[in-house]
Amino acid sequence: MNPTLGNPSSIGGPQRSAPNKVAPADGGDGLIDRWGRRHTDLRISVTDRCNLRCFYCMPPEGVPLLPREAILDFDEIVRVVHVAARLGVRKVRLTGGEPLVRKNLPALIGRLAGEAGLADLAMTTNGTLLADYAQELRRAGLQRVNISLDTLDRRQFQALTGQDALDQVLQGIEAAQAAGFWPIKLNALAIRGFSESQIVPLVRFALERGLEIRFIEFMPIGIVNQWSPERVLPAAAILSILRREFGSVEPVDSWGPAESEAGREEETASAVSLVAATETRRGASFQPPARCYLLGDAGARIGIISSMSRPFCRSCGRLRLNAIGELRYCLFAQRGWDLRTILRRGGDDEELIHIFRAAVQAKPLRPNTPGQQPQTHLAMCQIGG
Ligand code: SAM
Ligand code: SF4
Repeated sequence: MNPTLGNPSSIGGPQRSAPNKVAPADGGDGLIDRWGRRHTDLRISVTDRCNLRCFYCMPPEGVPLLPREAILDFDEIVRVVHVAARLGVRKVRLTGGEPLVRKNLPALIGRLAGEAGLADLAMTTNGTLLADYAQELRRAGLQRVNISLDTLDRRQFQALTGQDALDQVLQGIEAAQAAGFWPIKLNALAIRGFSESQIVPLVRFALERGLEIRFIEFMPIGIVNQWSPERVLPAAAILSILRREFGSVEPVDSWGPAESEAGREEETASAVSLVAATETRRGASFQPPARCYLLGDAGARIGIISSMSRPFCRSCGRLRLNAIGELRYCLFAQRGWDLRTILRRGGDDEELIHIFRAAVQAKPLRPNTPGQQPQTHLAMCQIGG
């Protein structure tokens, strides 16, 4: 068991680490780019496959699937994470496609949980399979889970994802809570003409259950996501909907105190009223890139990731590894750096480190150029969200 990651039996304890303050294990400077940004966060897509077809991510017929042998195996992923940790990466988030459709995912979690140097191991999921896996994932050492939920309306959910699976997601959220994950973040994509009616119900849903909710502006990622500038529901529009409902909506400049054990106890209590739930929000863990806002007088907090209207590139310390082992410095990157070839020909760590450094050095100040569609041939689910 990796002592840094904590003991899964102490279920769901809040994050206590300060990843950016930990020196890279290789004694070097870590992954610092030309603009001084230190890269401590790695998102890993474990599969390009998914059991949903969210229109903003995949076409209804899906995308041509990668041959299984093209996808990194667990040994390869663990090796990349080991090298990344040597270079100062402290946070790993598994994503996809849908990470839970990858066979034996808890086994990978268990191996990554044993990686010395990692302070945070998390996963982003659509939640449909969480009811089956939540306990096992927790036992394996997964620390945190983000669940994507864009609507609470069953018909809208089906129109969005192609599947009548809202109940499964709701059961998945309950299972994640029962397994002791905390905090649990809900990610809701904000799309103009689609999301307006769902902003308030989603906020109430989250607050009543002690979940954190973040709205994410729709981004032009990948080749098939039906994005247009008119479909972005910007932070300002989300805030005005919230203001109408909650009265005041104030940005919180400081991210506030770290989560407290006391806050956690309140989270797990059965209080379901908005007021009771808002008390627990005092310990919420919104961190950049989410900007945090206080709703009304009671202190309820929500987050908004305003990737389009107010990009957070200047403070971005994130790298991405897709399922076939290409390293990218951004969702908007137009190319990837191939780690798989080195892994499969038995290359040493120094070669992998060289690729990590090359990708980081190539990162522009602002890869996300407003109004410009990225020139990638991949869909979002193939890049890894
Ligand atoms: N299948 C998992 C899920 O849906 O949570 C993980 C992969 S998914 C690609 C990761 C996240 O990317 C989801 O929260 C999804 O809403 C978000 N996403 C997908 N396409 C997006 C887009 N065009 N703009 C912004 N976020 C997007
Ligand atoms: Fe699947 Fe997630 Fe993409 Fe939806 S957003 S199609 S759940 S990978």
